[in-house]
Amino acid sequence: MARIDTKFGVKLKKYGAVDFTACYNCGNCTAVCSLSTQDNSIPRDMVRYSVLGLQDDLKASLKPWLCYYCGECTAHCPQTANPGELMMALRRWLTSKYDWTGLSGLLYRSLPLTLLFFLLTALSVLIFAICKDFNLETIMHYGHYFEMGAIGAVFLIILLPNIIRMWWFVILKPKIKVTLKTYFKSIGELIVHMFTQKRSLSCDENKFRWFEHFILVIGYLMLLFTTVFLDWFSAKNLFVIVLGYVESMVILIVTVDFVMTRIKKSREVGKFSQPSDWFFVIWLFLLGTTALFVRVFIDLHILEFHIWLYLFHLTVLAQWAIIIVPFGKWTHFLYRSFAMYFEKLKETQYHEPTI
Ligand code: SF4
Ligand code: SF4
Repeated sequence: MARIDTKFGVKLKKYGAVDFTACYNCGNCTAVCSLSTQDNSIPRDMVRYSVLGLQDDLKASLKPWLCYYCGECTAHCPQTANPGELMMALRRWLTSKYDWTGLSGLLYRSLPLTLLFFLLTALSVLIFAICKDFNLETIMHYGHYFEMGAIGAVFLIILLPNIIRMWWFVILKPKIKVTLKTYFKSIGELIVHMFTQKRSLSCDENKFRWFEHFILVIGYLMLLFTTVFLDWFSAKNLFVIVLGYVESMVILIVTVDFVMTRIKKSREVGKFSQPSDWFFVIWLFLLGTTALFVRVFIDLHILEFHIWLYLFHLTVLAQWAIIIVPFGKWTHFLYRSFAMYFEKLKETQYHEPTI
Protein backbone atom coordinates (compact mmCIF):
# COMPACT_ATOMS: atom_id res chain seq x y z
CA MET A 1 0.00 0.00 0.00
CA ALA A 2 1.26 3.47 -0.89
CA ARG A 3 2.64 5.42 2.05
CA ILE A 4 1.33 8.99 2.46
CA ASP A 5 3.77 11.59 3.79
CA THR A 6 2.18 14.96 4.48
CA LYS A 7 5.58 16.47 5.36
CA PHE A 8 6.96 15.74 1.90
CA GLY A 9 5.87 19.20 0.66
CA VAL A 10 8.23 20.88 3.12
CA LYS A 11 11.07 18.69 1.84
CA LEU A 12 10.26 19.51 -1.80
CA LYS A 13 10.33 23.25 -1.12
CA LYS A 14 14.05 22.88 -0.37
CA TYR A 15 14.41 21.62 -3.94
CA GLY A 16 12.62 24.66 -5.36
CA ALA A 17 8.91 23.73 -5.39
CA VAL A 18 6.66 26.78 -5.02
CA ASP A 19 3.03 26.88 -3.79
CA PHE A 20 2.07 23.54 -5.38
CA THR A 21 -0.17 22.66 -2.40
CA ALA A 22 -2.59 25.33 -3.68
CA CYS A 23 -3.58 22.91 -6.48
CA TYR A 24 -7.30 22.05 -6.52
CA ASN A 25 -6.95 19.39 -9.17
CA CYS A 26 -8.75 21.19 -12.02
CA GLY A 27 -6.61 19.59 -14.75
CA ASN A 28 -5.91 22.76 -16.78
CA CYS A 29 -2.19 22.09 -16.61
CA THR A 30 -2.52 18.66 -18.18
CA ALA A 31 -4.92 19.96 -20.83
CA VAL A 32 -2.47 22.63 -22.04
CA CYS A 33 0.71 20.55 -21.83
CA SER A 34 1.73 19.62 -25.38
CA LEU A 35 3.86 16.75 -24.06
CA SER A 36 1.04 15.16 -22.11
CA THR A 37 -0.48 12.04 -23.68
CA GLN A 38 -3.23 9.63 -22.70
CA ASP A 39 -0.70 7.04 -21.52
CA ASN A 40 1.66 9.52 -19.95
CA SER A 41 -0.28 12.50 -18.72
CA ILE A 42 1.65 15.29 -16.99
CA PRO A 43 1.83 17.29 -14.77
CA ARG A 44 -1.40 17.03 -12.72
CA ASP A 45 -0.76 13.55 -11.31
CA MET A 46 2.76 14.58 -10.30
CA VAL A 47 1.24 17.50 -8.37
CA ARG A 48 -1.18 15.10 -6.62
CA TYR A 49 1.58 12.59 -5.79
CA SER A 50 3.66 15.43 -4.37
CA VAL A 51 0.81 16.82 -2.27
CA LEU A 52 0.20 13.33 -0.85
CA GLY A 53 3.91 12.62 -0.47
CA LEU A 54 3.83 9.35 -2.42
CA GLN A 55 7.60 9.13 -2.53
CA ASP A 56 7.87 5.51 -3.72
CA ASP A 57 5.56 6.21 -6.65
CA LEU A 58 7.48 9.35 -7.50
CA LYS A 59 10.79 7.49 -7.38
CA ALA A 60 9.42 4.84 -9.76
CA SER A 61 8.09 7.48 -12.14
CA LEU A 62 9.87 8.84 -15.19
CA LYS A 63 7.27 11.56 -15.71
CA PRO A 64 9.26 14.47 -14.23
CA TRP A 65 11.85 13.81 -16.96
CA LEU A 66 9.21 13.92 -19.70
CA CYS A 67 8.67 17.63 -19.00
CA TYR A 68 10.89 20.18 -20.78
CA TYR A 69 9.75 23.16 -18.76
CA CYS A 70 8.03 25.27 -21.40
CA GLY A 71 5.96 26.82 -18.59
CA GLU A 72 2.56 26.56 -20.33
CA CYS A 73 1.04 24.68 -17.39
CA THR A 74 2.20 27.33 -14.93
CA ALA A 75 0.85 30.11 -17.12
CA HIS A 76 -2.62 28.47 -17.21
CA CYS A 77 -2.88 27.39 -13.58
CA PRO A 78 -5.78 29.26 -11.93
CA GLN A 79 -4.30 28.61 -8.48
CA THR A 80 -0.75 29.83 -9.26
CA ALA A 81 0.43 26.43 -8.04
CA ASN A 82 3.44 26.58 -10.43
CA PRO A 83 3.23 23.00 -11.72
CA GLY A 84 6.13 23.61 -14.15
CA GLU A 85 8.43 24.56 -11.28
CA LEU A 86 7.21 21.57 -9.31
CA MET A 87 8.30 19.28 -12.16
CA MET A 88 11.71 20.96 -12.02
CA ALA A 89 11.87 20.49 -8.24
CA LEU A 90 10.94 16.82 -8.67
CA ARG A 91 13.80 16.38 -11.12
CA ARG A 92 16.19 17.82 -8.51
CA TRP A 93 14.70 15.58 -5.82
CA LEU A 94 14.96 12.50 -8.04
CA THR A 95 18.57 13.36 -8.79
CA SER A 96 19.26 13.29 -5.06
CA LYS A 97 17.55 9.88 -4.78
CA TYR A 98 19.54 8.35 -7.64
CA ASP A 99 22.82 9.61 -6.18
CA TRP A 100 24.32 6.88 -3.94
CA THR A 101 26.68 9.33 -2.21
CA GLY A 102 23.84 11.54 -0.96
CA LEU A 103 25.92 14.60 -1.88
CA SER A 104 23.51 15.83 -4.58
CA GLY A 105 20.74 16.23 -2.03
CA LEU A 106 23.03 17.97 0.47
CA LEU A 107 24.27 20.42 -2.14
CA TYR A 108 20.77 21.13 -3.48
CA ARG A 109 19.51 21.87 0.01
CA SER A 110 22.44 23.85 1.36
CA LEU A 111 23.97 26.85 -0.39
CA PRO A 112 26.66 27.39 2.31
CA LEU A 113 27.81 23.78 1.89
CA THR A 114 27.97 24.20 -1.90
CA LEU A 115 30.03 27.38 -1.50
CA LEU A 116 32.32 25.56 0.93
CA PHE A 117 32.92 22.81 -1.65
CA PHE A 118 33.69 25.43 -4.29
CA LEU A 119 36.09 27.18 -1.92
CA LEU A 120 37.87 23.95 -0.95
CA THR A 121 38.34 23.06 -4.61
CA ALA A 122 39.80 26.50 -5.34
CA LEU A 123 42.16 26.16 -2.35
CA SER A 124 43.28 22.73 -3.58
CA VAL A 125 44.21 24.20 -6.97
CA LEU A 126 46.14 27.00 -5.26
CA ILE A 127 48.01 24.60 -2.96
CA PHE A 128 48.83 22.41 -5.97
CA ALA A 129 50.22 25.46 -7.83
CA ILE A 130 52.34 26.42 -4.80
CA CYS A 131 53.68 22.85 -4.59
CA LYS A 132 54.69 23.10 -8.25
CA ASP A 133 56.37 26.52 -7.73
CA PHE A 134 53.84 28.11 -10.11
CA ASN A 135 55.59 26.43 -13.01
CA LEU A 136 53.16 26.93 -15.86
CA GLU A 137 54.37 24.05 -18.00
CA THR A 138 54.14 21.52 -15.14
CA ILE A 139 50.76 22.79 -13.97
CA MET A 140 49.33 22.63 -17.51
CA HIS A 141 50.73 19.14 -17.93
CA TYR A 142 48.97 17.92 -14.77
CA GLY A 143 45.88 19.97 -15.64
CA HIS A 144 45.56 17.95 -18.83
CA TYR A 145 45.89 14.66 -16.93
CA PHE A 146 43.34 15.93 -14.41
CA GLU A 147 40.79 16.43 -17.21
CA MET A 148 41.21 12.85 -18.40
CA GLY A 149 41.24 11.35 -14.91
CA ALA A 150 38.22 13.35 -13.76
CA ILE A 151 36.10 12.25 -16.73
CA GLY A 152 36.84 8.55 -16.12
CA ALA A 153 36.56 8.67 -12.34
CA VAL A 154 33.35 10.70 -12.21
CA PHE A 155 31.69 8.43 -14.73
CA LEU A 156 32.79 5.14 -13.15
CA ILE A 157 32.49 6.03 -9.48
CA ILE A 158 29.47 8.35 -9.43
CA LEU A 159 27.43 8.47 -12.62
CA LEU A 160 27.38 4.82 -13.64
CA PRO A 161 26.25 3.54 -10.20
CA ASN A 162 23.63 6.31 -10.12
CA ILE A 163 22.22 5.26 -13.49
CA ILE A 164 22.06 1.69 -12.20
CA ARG A 165 20.12 2.95 -9.16
CA MET A 166 17.74 4.83 -11.46
CA TRP A 167 17.25 1.62 -13.43
CA TRP A 168 16.51 -0.20 -10.17
CA PHE A 169 13.89 2.37 -9.13
CA VAL A 170 12.05 2.58 -12.46
CA ILE A 171 12.43 -0.86 -14.06
CA LEU A 172 13.54 -3.57 -11.65
CA LYS A 173 11.72 -2.60 -8.44
CA PRO A 174 8.32 -2.11 -10.16
CA LYS A 175 8.97 -5.52 -11.84
CA ILE A 176 8.82 -4.25 -15.42
CA LYS A 177 9.72 -7.18 -17.63
CA VAL A 178 12.02 -6.33 -20.52
CA THR A 179 13.87 -8.74 -22.77
CA LEU A 180 17.61 -8.42 -23.32
CA LYS A 181 16.93 -7.93 -27.01
CA THR A 182 14.76 -4.87 -26.24
CA TYR A 183 17.57 -3.35 -24.16
CA PHE A 184 19.83 -3.51 -27.21
CA LYS A 185 17.17 -2.57 -29.73
CA SER A 186 16.19 0.57 -27.81
CA ILE A 187 19.71 1.89 -27.30
CA GLY A 188 19.23 4.21 -30.31
CA GLU A 189 16.58 6.06 -28.29
CA LEU A 190 19.20 6.90 -25.67
CA ILE A 191 21.71 8.23 -28.21
CA VAL A 192 19.16 10.27 -30.17
CA HIS A 193 17.70 11.92 -27.05
CA MET A 194 21.12 12.52 -25.54
CA PHE A 195 22.31 14.52 -28.55
CA THR A 196 19.11 16.07 -29.85
CA GLN A 197 16.53 16.26 -27.00
CA LYS A 198 14.06 15.95 -29.87
CA ARG A 199 11.07 15.46 -27.57
CA SER A 200 11.29 19.10 -26.50
CA LEU A 201 10.51 20.12 -30.10
CA SER A 202 6.89 19.15 -29.43
CA CYS A 203 6.65 22.09 -27.03
CA ASP A 204 5.37 24.98 -29.11
CA GLU A 205 7.27 27.52 -27.04
CA ASN A 206 10.53 25.68 -27.21
CA LYS A 207 11.79 25.85 -30.81
CA PHE A 208 14.47 28.50 -30.27
CA ARG A 209 15.40 27.09 -26.86
CA TRP A 210 15.75 23.68 -28.44
CA PHE A 211 18.16 25.08 -31.01
CA GLU A 212 20.20 26.82 -28.31
CA HIS A 213 20.35 23.63 -26.23
CA PHE A 214 21.30 21.61 -29.26
CA ILE A 215 24.27 23.75 -30.28
CA LEU A 216 25.30 24.09 -26.61
CA VAL A 217 25.38 20.32 -26.10
CA ILE A 218 27.28 19.78 -29.36
CA GLY A 219 29.65 22.71 -28.62
CA TYR A 220 30.28 21.50 -25.06
CA LEU A 221 30.93 17.86 -26.03
CA MET A 222 33.17 18.90 -28.90
CA LEU A 223 35.17 21.31 -26.73
CA LEU A 224 35.59 18.50 -24.21
CA PHE A 225 36.88 16.26 -26.97
CA THR A 226 39.12 18.99 -28.41
CA THR A 227 40.73 19.92 -25.09
CA VAL A 228 41.02 16.41 -23.64
CA PHE A 229 41.76 14.20 -26.64
CA LEU A 230 43.19 16.69 -29.15
CA ASP A 231 45.04 18.62 -26.40
CA TRP A 232 43.84 22.01 -27.67
CA PHE A 233 46.16 24.07 -25.44
CA SER A 234 49.23 22.36 -26.92
CA ALA A 235 47.88 21.89 -30.44
CA LYS A 236 49.87 23.19 -33.41
CA ASN A 237 47.38 22.03 -36.03
CA LEU A 238 45.45 25.04 -37.38
CA PHE A 239 42.23 23.08 -37.80
CA VAL A 240 42.26 21.96 -34.14
CA ILE A 241 43.06 25.49 -32.95
CA VAL A 242 40.23 27.06 -34.97
CA LEU A 243 37.84 24.27 -33.95
CA GLY A 244 38.47 24.99 -30.28
CA TYR A 245 37.91 28.71 -30.84
CA VAL A 246 34.57 28.08 -32.55
CA GLU A 247 33.39 25.66 -29.83
CA SER A 248 34.31 27.97 -26.96
CA MET A 249 32.63 30.92 -28.74
CA VAL A 250 29.42 28.87 -29.11
CA ILE A 251 29.43 28.10 -25.38
CA LEU A 252 30.09 31.75 -24.54
CA ILE A 253 27.28 33.12 -26.74
CA VAL A 254 24.61 30.61 -25.70
CA THR A 255 25.41 30.80 -21.99
CA VAL A 256 25.26 34.62 -22.07
CA ASP A 257 21.71 34.28 -23.43
CA PHE A 258 20.83 31.71 -20.72
CA VAL A 259 22.17 33.99 -17.98
CA MET A 260 20.27 36.99 -19.41
CA THR A 261 17.05 34.92 -19.53
CA ARG A 262 17.40 34.15 -15.84
CA ILE A 263 18.29 37.73 -14.93
CA LYS A 264 15.41 39.24 -16.94
CA LYS A 265 13.05 36.34 -16.05
CA SER A 266 11.82 36.72 -19.63
CA ARG A 267 10.78 33.07 -19.95
CA GLU A 268 8.91 30.86 -17.51
CA VAL A 269 12.00 28.69 -17.10
CA GLY A 270 13.96 31.65 -15.71
CA LYS A 271 11.42 32.82 -13.15
CA PHE A 272 12.41 30.64 -10.19
CA SER A 273 16.15 30.11 -10.54
CA GLN A 274 17.72 28.02 -7.80
CA PRO A 275 21.45 28.29 -6.89
CA SER A 276 22.11 25.05 -8.82
CA ASP A 277 20.67 26.68 -11.99
CA TRP A 278 22.93 29.70 -11.57
CA PHE A 279 26.00 27.60 -10.90
CA PHE A 280 25.32 25.55 -14.02
CA VAL A 281 25.02 28.43 -16.49
CA ILE A 282 27.67 30.64 -14.91
CA TRP A 283 30.27 27.87 -14.64
CA LEU A 284 29.59 26.76 -18.19
CA PHE A 285 30.07 30.35 -19.30
CA LEU A 286 33.31 30.62 -17.29
CA LEU A 287 34.53 27.32 -18.65
CA GLY A 288 34.08 28.43 -22.27
CA THR A 289 35.41 31.95 -21.67
CA THR A 290 38.51 31.03 -19.66
CA ALA A 291 39.40 28.26 -22.14
CA LEU A 292 39.06 30.79 -24.98
CA PHE A 293 41.30 33.35 -23.26
CA VAL A 294 43.90 30.75 -22.29
CA ARG A 295 44.21 29.78 -25.95
CA VAL A 296 44.33 33.47 -27.05
CA PHE A 297 47.13 34.10 -24.52
CA ILE A 298 48.98 31.01 -25.78
CA ASP A 299 48.72 32.27 -29.36
CA LEU A 300 49.96 35.72 -28.30
CA HIS A 301 52.82 34.04 -26.37
CA ILE A 302 51.91 35.87 -23.16
CA LEU A 303 50.36 33.08 -21.04
CA GLU A 304 53.60 32.53 -19.09
CA PHE A 305 53.30 36.13 -17.82
CA HIS A 306 49.67 35.56 -16.84
CA ILE A 307 49.72 32.22 -15.08
CA TRP A 308 46.76 33.42 -12.95
CA LEU A 309 44.57 33.03 -16.03
CA TYR A 310 45.37 29.34 -16.39
CA LEU A 311 44.96 28.83 -12.62
CA PHE A 312 41.56 30.48 -12.81
CA HIS A 313 40.60 28.22 -15.72
CA LEU A 314 41.85 25.15 -13.83
CA THR A 315 39.84 26.17 -10.74
CA VAL A 316 36.65 26.58 -12.80
CA LEU A 317 37.34 23.28 -14.55
CA ALA A 318 37.94 21.43 -11.26
CA GLN A 319 34.77 22.86 -9.68
CA TRP A 320 32.81 21.94 -12.78
CA ALA A 321 34.25 18.42 -13.01
CA ILE A 322 34.01 17.37 -9.37
CA ILE A 323 30.96 19.32 -8.14
CA ILE A 324 28.60 20.36 -10.94
CA VAL A 325 28.99 17.35 -13.26
CA PRO A 326 28.54 14.55 -10.70
CA PHE A 327 26.21 16.27 -8.22
CA GLY A 328 24.68 19.34 -9.88
CA LYS A 329 22.43 20.20 -12.75
CA TRP A 330 24.68 18.61 -15.36
CA THR A 331 23.32 15.20 -14.31
CA HIS A 332 19.86 16.19 -15.61
CA PHE A 333 21.24 15.90 -19.14
CA LEU A 334 22.24 12.29 -18.43
CA TYR A 335 19.20 11.22 -16.41
CA ARG A 336 16.78 12.70 -18.92
CA SER A 337 18.41 10.78 -21.76
CA PHE A 338 18.21 7.56 -19.75
CA ALA A 339 14.63 8.37 -18.78
CA MET A 340 13.70 8.37 -22.49
CA TYR A 341 15.49 5.05 -22.88
CA PHE A 342 13.78 3.48 -19.85
CA GLU A 343 10.45 4.88 -21.02
CA LYS A 344 10.94 3.11 -24.33
CA LEU A 345 11.70 -0.11 -22.42
CA LYS A 346 8.53 0.32 -20.36
CA GLU A 347 6.46 0.78 -23.52
CA THR A 348 7.77 -2.50 -24.92
CA GLN A 349 7.60 -4.58 -21.72
CA TYR A 350 6.25 -8.07 -22.17
CA HIS A 351 3.67 -9.77 -20.02
CA GLU A 352 4.17 -13.35 -18.97
CA PRO A 353 1.29 -15.55 -20.13
CA THR A 354 -1.08 -16.42 -17.33
CA ILE A 355 -1.96 -20.08 -16.92
S1 SF4 B 1 -3.84 23.80 -13.30
FE1 SF4 B 1 -3.08 24.26 -11.24
S2 SF4 B 1 -4.84 23.89 -9.90
FE2 SF4 B 1 -5.31 22.91 -11.86
S3 SF4 B 1 -4.58 20.78 -11.59
FE3 SF4 B 1 -2.91 21.92 -12.51
S4 SF4 B 1 -1.68 22.61 -10.77
FE4 SF4 B 1 -3.67 22.01 -9.96
S1 SF4 C 1 6.32 22.86 -18.12
FE1 SF4 C 1 5.52 22.47 -20.21
S2 SF4 C 1 6.22 20.39 -20.66
FE2 SF4 C 1 6.41 20.66 -18.44
S3 SF4 C 1 4.50 19.87 -17.63
FE3 SF4 C 1 4.25 22.08 -17.88
S4 SF4 C 1 3.30 22.33 -19.90
FE4 SF4 C 1 4.15 20.24 -19.80
